[in-house]
Amino acid sequence: MPLISHYFDNAATTPVDPRVLEAMLPYFGQHFGNAHSLHTFGGEAMAAVEQAREQVAKLLGADAPDEIVFTSGATEANNWMVYGFPDLAVSPFEHSSIHAPAMSFGRPVMANDGLMMTSPDDAPIVSLMKVNNEIGTIFEPEAMATGQRLVHSDITQAVGKIPVDVTAFDYASLSGHKFYGPKGVGALYAKGANFPTPLLIGGDQENGFRAGTLNVAGIVGMGAAAELAYEEREQDAALAAELRQIVLEGLDKALDFQVNGGVQVSPYILSVSFYGMEGETLVIEMDRLGFALSSGAACSSRSTAPSHVLTALNLEPAWLQGTIRISFGRFNTKEAAQRLGKALTLGAETINNLNV
Ligand code: PMP
Repeated sequence: MPLISHYFDNAATTPVDPRVLEAMLPYFGQHFGNAHSLHTFGGEAMAAVEQAREQVAKLLGADAPDEIVFTSGATEANNWMVYGFPDLAVSPFEHSSIHAPAMSFGRPVMANDGLMMTSPDDAPIVSLMKVNNEIGTIFEPEAMATGQRLVHSDITQAVGKIPVDVTAFDYASLSGHKFYGPKGVGALYAKGANFPTPLLIGGDQENGFRAGTLNVAGIVGMGAAAELAYEEREQDAALAAELRQIVLEGLDKALDFQVNGGVQVSPYILSVSFYGMEGETLVIEMDRLGFALSSGAACSSRSTAPSHVLTALNLEPAWLQGTIRISFGRFNTKEAAQRLGKALTLGAETINNLNV
């Protein structure tokens, strides 16, 4: 069994916090009711859902709980935005759950110069993520909210991690499993509860904005995770920053590597490229050494196509292919980070030796 302290792929998913699991369990058991049933079983489930909505709204700093609609994850929230807004212009750095639907519907993509967006121009609504999931760059979608323009931000890798003032946005997407909640539950925030036309229809759940029987246990878990994130965000972030530094310092300077993401970068994500190496080979070698890392976004890990994010940065192919992502979380330890730094050096050297 690999050690949870050696799990450095927290941007793909975080372990469920045991306190979150405890909060969820009754909703798989005695509180099994359908939240929309009129009887007491239903009422109990609905009360738990509404408490979770308040917990998520509090973490986001939203003005009111009804500005939150629960979805099956950030992918659904992002798809909803693309379906809902034919004029949505997206950044080239967006997660594939917004980038791919935007491409297939022919939505405009903002031009960029390195990490800077150069053309939101006259787009009436733009989408720019707060933290990039592959390279950790912190973007400033807040700055795009000028004049009449609406701003959507995918805050999936930011929420519970770095300070986010959601009231600076008109819309925001998030996911429970990136902050120690369960998978398969997320939310779309809409300022003033001004949600787009529903994506899922056929039921009046979520004020008619999202049909489908509510995932009560999942929503309760996301709420409990939001409450913990509200209380522990600063302490978690301090640990992540320390771990990131430890790993960076542990990398042997003799190796030919570069750190991606620019200067404004999340403490939770460390993207490193090793010149001329295959990122996947290094990830597999590191798994053999007992460390879970990633070569990029988990959602595209089965694809051999180069990452659209790294491609937008014009990274030379020899750097691009050698990119790995190390992402930190609540259950990592300093000792594990120290070992990771050394093991990475060893792993990279082993692969380099095989290549000669
Ligand atoms: N946006 C970003 C930035 C992400 O990192 C992810 C998860 N990889 C998603 C959206 C999709 O979230 P979910 O897994 O909840 O569909």
